[in-house]
Amino acid sequence: MRRFPRLIFLGALLLAGARAGADGLPDLGELERVGLSPQTERRLGERYMQEIRRDPAYFDDPEVAAYIGQLGQRLAAHVEGGHPSFEFFVVKDAVLNAFAMPGGFIGVHTGLILAARSESELAGVLAHEISHVTQSHLARSFGKQSQAQLATLLSLAVAALAARNNPDVAVGAALAGQAAGIQQQLNYSRDFEREADRLGLGLMEQAGFDARGMVSFFERMLQFGRLYENNAPGYLRTHPLTTERITDMENRVAQRPYRQVADSEEFGLVRAKLRAQEGAPADAVADFATQLREHKYLSEAVVRYGYAHALLRHNRLAEAAAEVSILRRLKLESPLLETLDAQVRMRRADMQAALQILRAGAQRYPHARALTYAFIDAQLAAGDAPAALAGTQRELQLTPGDARLFAMQAKAYALMGKRLQQHRAQAEAYLLEGQLGAAVEQLELARKAGDGNFYEQSQVDARLRELKQRKAEEMRRRH
Ligand SMILES: [Zn+2]
Repeated sequence: MRRFPRLIFLGALLLAGARAGADGLPDLGELERVGLSPQTERRLGERYMQEIRRDPAYFDDPEVAAYIGQLGQRLAAHVEGGHPSFEFFVVKDAVLNAFAMPGGFIGVHTGLILAARSESELAGVLAHEISHVTQSHLARSFGKQSQAQLATLLSLAVAALAARNNPDVAVGAALAGQAAGIQQQLNYSRDFEREADRLGLGLMEQAGFDARGMVSFFERMLQFGRLYENNAPGYLRTHPLTTERITDMENRVAQRPYRQVADSEEFGLVRAKLRAQEGAPADAVADFATQLREHKYLSEAVVRYGYAHALLRHNRLAEAAAEVSILRRLKLESPLLETLDAQVRMRRADMQAALQILRAGAQRYPHARALTYAFIDAQLAAGDAPAALAGTQRELQLTPGDARLFAMQAKAYALMGKRLQQHRAQAEAYLLEGQLGAAVEQLELARKAGDGNFYEQSQVDARLRELKQRKAEEMRRRH
């Protein structure tokens, strides 16, 4: 769990190195990119993401991920001139933080999602991060670097990445020493902060959020930072927050008409689910029970939904099932209730009921990706590999770039004893996660499996040749 901050530090390393080399203030009017091309930025970001996806702190919950993704895309849709791609992801960490990496990858800590008091507050942080990306603040920080310095920084970063998977203490210690020094310097410049605030507020308005949410959240963070000086939230260390910045934001917001924006039900449900995962299971259960007893809530359904998740986690299955029944009576209508219901049934060993709920749910909410995953997972758990396989094939026609579906497909083939197809699907899953080496290994295994026909065998050969070539090109680029 605590390994994760080292990755964050890598981003810091790149930023800090750039800052050391830059003299004077960056020209904010300058629109052309300097230092790094968008392609290089994206490649760099993808390299971080490969590591992050394998990190235990990477929060792989498709419902939470889908919610953050939708919220982020709703804001990103209003970026002037458009931006090729954004990817939002969640990190399981109680520290209040959010960060933008090169190439449009934006991470949000669970702690920050839980600390937001309204959806507009959460949207405010995302809008701010999106603006750091669209304004190429990272690339512009690199601007005054020579290519040689840049290369050194990059190789340091890559060495540090490698060190995480290689218990070479000497390398680790040397890097840790540098990290301590560099981390002190990490932050965006004040001009970049102001620019991200200004553009972020614009995005929020256009996307229909209450721009005051950004101000109130940052204001609270500033107060919090004063209280805990040396333990300030991670966010404040990378995004210097001053009273002046808050006043700037307040002035901008004051000129706009007041706008009351209700939170979506999903915002409440996702936060309740996260809260149910926090701390000891018994404490989470007790916390929701207190809220229910004291009627301390805006929505009873949201609290009961969290309560059911906490009970499930605490292995109190009958009580969890009772809460689901109440949620049905309260007429909570959400794909999140369907997956919860199915999960409770599965834990109570009622596989048939779980499958029925998921089948009906997937028909009712065809766009709820997490529900589809849960349905295919349940089919696999029930041993119905052909149905699971058909499900993945159908879904992959709609979203061919979905690594999770390929991984499920590999499991289905494994259950059916089709080894060539199993490794072939697993190779595609790895490839989509950016793990080229692992993908090549899987194709080698597929080749040796010996249970495919001539046609399948030659497909594997062709794909293997293609990936090996790609790997060689990548090696050349790195040297
Ligand atoms: Zn910032």
